[in-house]
Amino acid sequence: MKENEQSNVLNKTLDSLTKNRQTPKSVYAALCVLYIVTSVAVSITAGSGKVIMLGSTPVPVYTYAGVLSSLANLCIILITVFFGKLGFVTSIAVISIQTPLLIYGIIAKHRMTSLPGLFGYLLTVIAVVMIYRNNKEVAKYQLKLREQATTDILTGLPNRFAGAELFDDLIRRNKPFAAVAIDVNEFKSINDTMGFNIGNKVLIEIGSRWKKIADTGLSGTLDFILRISGDEYALIIRNYKSDEDIINTIKQYNAALDEKMSIDGYDFSVTASFGYAKFPDDTDNRDLVLSYSATAMKEIKRLKSGEHIMHFTPELLKDQNKMMIDGKVRDALDNDTIYYNLQPQYDMSHRLRGFEALARIKDEAGNLISPADFIPAAERMGLIDRIDLAVYKKAAMFFGELLRKSGANITLSINVSVKHLMKSSFMDEIRNILKESGVPADKLELEITESIMIESAEKASDCLKELKEMGVKIAIDDFGTGYSSLSYLNSFPIDLLKVDKSFIDIMNESDSSKQYVEAIISLGHIMGFEVIAEGVEEEAQLETLRSINCDYIQGFIWGRPLPSEEAARLIE
Ligand code: C2E
Ligand code: CA
Ligand code: CA
Repeated sequence: MKENEQSNVLNKTLDSLTKNRQTPKSVYAALCVLYIVTSVAVSITAGSGKVIMLGSTPVPVYTYAGVLSSLANLCIILITVFFGKLGFVTSIAVISIQTPLLIYGIIAKHRMTSLPGLFGYLLTVIAVVMIYRNNKEVAKYQLKLREQATTDILTGLPNRFAGAELFDDLIRRNKPFAAVAIDVNEFKSINDTMGFNIGNKVLIEIGSRWKKIADTGLSGTLDFILRISGDEYALIIRNYKSDEDIINTIKQYNAALDEKMSIDGYDFSVTASFGYAKFPDDTDNRDLVLSYSATAMKEIKRLKSGEHIMHFTPELLKDQNKMMIDGKVRDALDNDTIYYNLQPQYDMSHRLRGFEALARIKDEAGNLISPADFIPAAERMGLIDRIDLAVYKKAAMFFGELLRKSGANITLSINVSVKHLMKSSFMDEIRNILKESGVPADKLELEITESIMIESAEKASDCLKELKEMGVKIAIDDFGTGYSSLSYLNSFPIDLLKVDKSFIDIMNESDSSKQYVEAIISLGHIMGFEVIAEGVEEEAQLETLRSINCDYIQGFIWGRPLPSEEAARLIE
């Protein structure tokens, strides 16, 4: 960016930040007019021999001249107070013209009544000069304050406030720009090993190298470099024609760090990470353009690939979201805040069959995170068994107590992840839970998905047989969505098929869809299983399911997942 361009931008920014309001020019004109009128009035009244009656007292007209002259002087003083240099020059000019006229009157025409006026002028000149000098001093401080508010003290670069003003200005005028978030790599280790003093000098050197590029316009684009805080800088790039221009510009800032820095006898090699987002192409929201560029910067830093520049893409947000969820799963495990809801299952005449326990996690703000997000995250991180166990323990303890109190004949279903079932500790965990909670084995049902059968048929088969011997029930969850194979249905000890919601959703849309569900139910019955339909939401679905001999239903139509105490009330 050309030098004057950068300082122009900065000055505009400074003006808008310090909001230096000027007194309107109309006030100046009014004061000038008032001055002329009162001055004319002074000369008329001063020479008048007339007398005016104030009540019964006669007052000579010339005595009013003093009052009018004070008013004229007040105009001059006000002009100096409010109009800086212009006011000062005007005041001095007026007095310089008036004074010789007065002196001439006194000497040539012996008009001694003008003497007090002359003294008045003298005092006014003193006042005007003092006010002007004082004003200049104040203005100097104001300018300094302005600069301090918008300049980073350490590097002398414009600071974040200056940047924010520029962003707002560009966005208001709808001018395209690229916001580049910059972070110095491994800066903390320089600070930690060499001390703040040297760390600061490194930051100053980086700032000065970059400022040179911005000031001289070397990059070919219009650039504005600022320091945000610590080792964070930002670059605003304008007047580019393509993404290539943006990348070329950033490359120059990156290359400026190639040359070693010698500071206090030490050599430093510094690199930085650059992430950018474009207004309005990537987003037309001021805050988002900044956070998107920071997202891209963090990602390129995290990759540690040797590349230093990245353009924001929406995929990055998904990665970021994933990482956020990972963190929340860990927090929930560490703080033991995982809990569960119970969703009722009913037979076709609305008698309670039991409950399915569904894991729940809330973040610090109290927002629910969907199991569709946190279960895959926990599986990816190898933490799913800990989630499962937390739910099993809490739900089984509550359910055991409920059975003892109510004597109800109902089942508790829990979800088992494949990865969890494959752990050698799985069987012991189930035995422990049964023992501690006092839930009879035949009142516990494990929901597993078909993928278990396909991925590790042998291990799964052993586990399931052992569970069966203990009396625990087995349900196949999401039936129909996996690689359904009739052979495993025959060889595993299954009690219940759970027909996936996706089939129930479209069941009433065509005959073939309905026949498909009907076939699953018949098949299940032939093989000796019971069948439950998942995700039943409508009365018409309920009717169809009755007509094709479904055994049970689970769905919002008769019950959403509920906090355990509320679920317990369904027994009464
Ligand atoms: P799933 O085992 O198929 O659980 C049924 C899901 O369908 C639940 O979603 C439930 O709230 C939802 N649902 C039930 N009826 C209806 C309905 O009528 N309409 C609609 N739209 N949805 C209905 P949720 O609680 O979000 O759970 C999602 C999945 O997360 C579960 O699917 C299960 O695979 C997994 N999950 C939940 N808790 C656990 C757990 O403790 N351990 C493991 N490993 N997985 C769990
Ligand atoms: Ca389930
Ligand atoms: Ca399911």
